[in-house]
Amino acid sequence: MSSALRKEYLAALGLETWTLRGPAAASEPVAAPFDEPVPLVAAAPRETAQRDEVAPGDATAPREAAPREAAYDWPQLRERVAACTRCGLSATRTQTVFGVGNLQAEWLVVGEAPGAEEDRQGEPFVGRAGQLLNAMLRAIGLKREQVYIANVLKCRPPQNRDPVAAETMECLPFLDRQIALLRPKIMLVVGRIAAQNLLRTDAKLGALRQQVHSFGAAGVPLVVTYHPAYLLRSPAEKRKAWEDLKFAREVFARG
Ligand code: SF4
Repeated sequence: MSSALRKEYLAALGLETWTLRGPAAASEPVAAPFDEPVPLVAAAPRETAQRDEVAPGDATAPREAAPREAAYDWPQLRERVAACTRCGLSATRTQTVFGVGNLQAEWLVVGEAPGAEEDRQGEPFVGRAGQLLNAMLRAIGLKREQVYIANVLKCRPPQNRDPVAAETMECLPFLDRQIALLRPKIMLVVGRIAAQNLLRTDAKLGALRQQVHSFGAAGVPLVVTYHPAYLLRSPAEKRKAWEDLKFAREVFARG
């Protein structure tokens, strides 16, 4: 990706770049090592240990789709989700939000649950948060159409409250089956709720970032970052999200 194009994407993320002043200055950004523009936002101290590979353990124990989901193909699974009444959220949803994207995708993005706009449109990550997610993906050279996007919960919790344990327990087998069908090469998990549920931990998001977790029996590499909706409320954290995205790109490149 050219530095000009990357600058454009970073601008969409809200990350501006330094430029030289004075007679010798050009309008081009000063390239940081590896041709990355230097964000204006000061680099925050890393919250966690460095990029250690996390050995499979309690938080990353393999999880497979429940037997009742394990045989479903994509159309069957979509049908089952659309008709699902396993938890109380079925009573308040406008429609289920199954997931969207390329069924051959190498990247799987997982969020928490549909919001109001998603509930209306039936697609995850639309509206402002969706636009920011698209910009985040573009910043690492990915188009939305190239990835698959899903949530832990397929129905919107009223008033966007956090899901309760019983709701996630009932709904997670659907996501597990989506992962089994998709067989992604990397999972980018956005937000605390999704990360805690997939990794079976109550650790804070800051403690889960910048590490390679391993998901499921296939050991899919899993990287955690902030939810775009949170970044809209806390733009100063975009700098950390950018670090996470670069980290995820490195993990993917490592194979
Ligand atoms: S949230 Fe999941 S388990 Fe609950 S009704 Fe919707 S699809 Fe079913």
